[in-house]
Amino acid sequence: MSAQQWDTCPPDRVSQESPPLQETLAAASGNQRTATQPGTQRTTGKLLATQGYVVGIEISGSGSRQSVALANLNGTILHRIRRPLEYVPDTNTVLQLLDGMLAEVMHPERLQDGRVLRVGVAVGGLVDASRGVVRTLHHAHGWDNFPLQDYLEERLDIPCIIDNNANAAALAEVQYGAGIGERIVLYVGLGRGIGGGMVINGKIYHGTTCSAGEIGHLLVKEQGPKCSCGGFGHLEAIASAQAISRTMIGLSVENPETEAAIRRITGARDERITAEQVFQLAAAGDQVAQRVVDDVYTYLGIALANIIHLMNPSMIILGGQVAQAGELLLTPLQARLRDLCLPAASEDVRIVLGKLGTEANTVGAVTLALQDI
Ligand SMILES: [Zn+2]
Repeated sequence: MSAQQWDTCPPDRVSQESPPLQETLAAASGNQRTATQPGTQRTTGKLLATQGYVVGIEISGSGSRQSVALANLNGTILHRIRRPLEYVPDTNTVLQLLDGMLAEVMHPERLQDGRVLRVGVAVGGLVDASRGVVRTLHHAHGWDNFPLQDYLEERLDIPCIIDNNANAAALAEVQYGAGIGERIVLYVGLGRGIGGGMVINGKIYHGTTCSAGEIGHLLVKEQGPKCSCGGFGHLEAIASAQAISRTMIGLSVENPETEAAIRRITGARDERITAEQVFQLAAAGDQVAQRVVDDVYTYLGIALANIIHLMNPSMIILGGQVAQAGELLLTPLQARLRDLCLPAASEDVRIVLGKLGTEANTVGAVTLALQDI
């Protein structure tokens, strides 16, 4: 199967394994847009440019991550603003917030070296990248079938490209992070939810309807806990950062020692306990924490073993807040996968931590913007 056939949605995005971003390119040619007709694919159009900037936007359904970054054509982030919210915002609130952040990031004083050529958006929900439409953000209302790409292009008069945040992070890790030079990569974003992105021969694999990689909704435990999508026993309901913290707090109620430990490390704000802290408590011998992280190894192991047998990747990159646990997550998971997989499928797959850390989504948005330059 060729790379072109793999990338069914959208097939004509331009992406290269080791792109020379700006060195031999000719002068900027303007903000041309690609006309979109039914059945055709959205792209920002190929642009040859030697100077200028791109902007990367991150939007999360939960409100916990809203950021805008200005980057040069090498992908180096020059300025970044974050405006996290403590509540789940509606569409208007997020768009107003973005207006202010974009005005600040794109202030003329910051654009000494030319103009902003492209905008990339990494969205923490289901995205139809071929139509530039947000299908849904599980936690938030008002986003269903929202034409975000058109909205931003009209507002900014700059070509935009949008994609799912895990797809964007996957591309960023392959171009700038842990996956440089790898041909078949799965990125696993273990954040508040769980997202997956597959990059095959340097291109995002979207699937038929742009929902490929939604690994947070793999069924790993029948009659398991309820997921953000309404289903039960999905990976996200067990191994996401939110699930780990919630389960830990829930189980600690009957264990005074664990409750005291949580209070100690969170300054009595139990709800703030992070997945990383749960892994640390487990390593320190807390039995409740050990139960929680054992479930993570077990069910994340099952999901990844199944994926390894299906796609035979060369690398699996773990990112997001849970991956902040580092070796405490990685080493037992590697052992688990060695046990669960056929040697032929697993002997050459490397399971690694992402290099872009919790910034992978923002760098991903920038990487989306740079795809066609
Ligand atoms: Zn689900």
